[in-house]
Amino acid sequence: MTRLSDIISRDEWTREDLAYAVGLEEGDPERELLSEAAHRVKAERVGCVSYYRGLIEFSNICVKNCLYCGIRKSHSSVHRFESTLDEILGIAKWTYENHYGSVVLQSGERTDPKFIDFVEEALRGIKRVSDGKLGITLCVGEQTEETYRRWFEAGAHRYLLRIEESSPELYSTLHPADGHHLWSVRDACLRTLKKIGYQVGTGVMIGLPGQTAENLADDILYFKALGIDMIGMGPYIVSRGTPLGDRVEAEGGNTDAACRRRFILGLNMIAATRLALKDVNIAATTALQGLDKRGRELGLKAGANILMPIVTLPEHRADYQLYDGKPCIEDTSDQCKRCLTGRVRWAGDTVGFDSWGDSRHYFGERGINPAPHIEAGEGTVGAGIRTVIPICSEGRAGIGRLPLYGRKLTPRRNSGGRFLTAIFLSAW
Ligand code: SAH
Ligand code: SF4
Repeated sequence: MTRLSDIISRDEWTREDLAYAVGLEEGDPERELLSEAAHRVKAERVGCVSYYRGLIEFSNICVKNCLYCGIRKSHSSVHRFESTLDEILGIAKWTYENHYGSVVLQSGERTDPKFIDFVEEALRGIKRVSDGKLGITLCVGEQTEETYRRWFEAGAHRYLLRIEESSPELYSTLHPADGHHLWSVRDACLRTLKKIGYQVGTGVMIGLPGQTAENLADDILYFKALGIDMIGMGPYIVSRGTPLGDRVEAEGGNTDAACRRRFILGLNMIAATRLALKDVNIAATTALQGLDKRGRELGLKAGANILMPIVTLPEHRADYQLYDGKPCIEDTSDQCKRCLTGRVRWAGDTVGFDSWGDSRHYFGERGINPAPHIEAGEGTVGAGIRTVIPICSEGRAGIGRLPLYGRKLTPRRNSGGRFLTAIFLSAW
């Protein structure tokens, strides 16, 4: 028995196990084993279905100065843009009509009232143009509890906020020490989002200078300790003209070999996270494809089950470059859709069109354990659960938010004969 097969046979992974798996190098036969085991767990626990979240990058204006990011505030050569509400709703409509099931609204970070109102309006508008049926993930950074609650009430039900690095020490080397980039604040935001009832996603950049396999193992343990529902992580990619990017380049850390190492680490992290966390949603991020043409497919094979095709307006794509060499900049959304569906098939998955593809972990944590491939089951609304969304077998959900404490929910059929049941959305 190899060391890895011994690790795989265990139910609980230690920090050493995780670090060993993450650190496996390209060409090592144990990497195949890791990937296959992760794919098996994916098939058993979440199914071989890839769900799409159309990624709307609606503004690159940001008040932050993260040292690695291509749209950081001080990057003066970036042409700044803001999509209008009509543009966002037009994209959302296209996404809905193309059966994507969900969108992600992502932008630079702003906390001013105009921005908060705008996001709220966009959320309500997206629900309106999609007849309440598009699922919405937000990814717009650190906000107050009040803001997170307003957006939740307006229709967002998933939130993605990467911790970037679970070690506060390493985090401090990636951000300016100006009092506006605090690990403790980011960590507190994730806890607040969970308390409100969002499905919460986090993640890290992989292959950062100074980051070890043990750090990455700690990242996975951090996801687990926090009860995270979704993971969005990917390799760090140099953005020239940023303090970190220029440093990495000067130190020889941007060679083909170094990028390849980050890519392999990225795949290993997906596989190890799937094996350790089992029923969470894991994205095969665009950054993987930035380093390898088949990056996202290999991510799916290593255990990921979410894809985030870019649906940003073509004229804004080049201005939203968090890192160099971002793929799909020249493509239209139609081209992206065709190309991606082929990639998913190559990876052996089907596409979960018209479905929210919510995190099974979220329901599992609340004592609801939907069988694979079924969005949710019947059940009694338990203590603290306040919001219920009726949903049919196609996963097209209506946004009915009902105080149903203590009531028994039974599946029934709608007028079209479709199976209707309910999912429990929030607990507080
Ligand atoms: N402003 C929001 C959302 C947009 S940035 C936020 O920061 O949360 C989304 C993600 O892009 C960040 O979380 C970061 O992990 C990633 N990112 C930024 N620069 C990157 C780079 N050079 N390489 C890889 N990922 C990067
Ligand atoms: Fe702004 Fe997000 Fe980039 Fe940081 S990572 S500079 S918050 S867009």
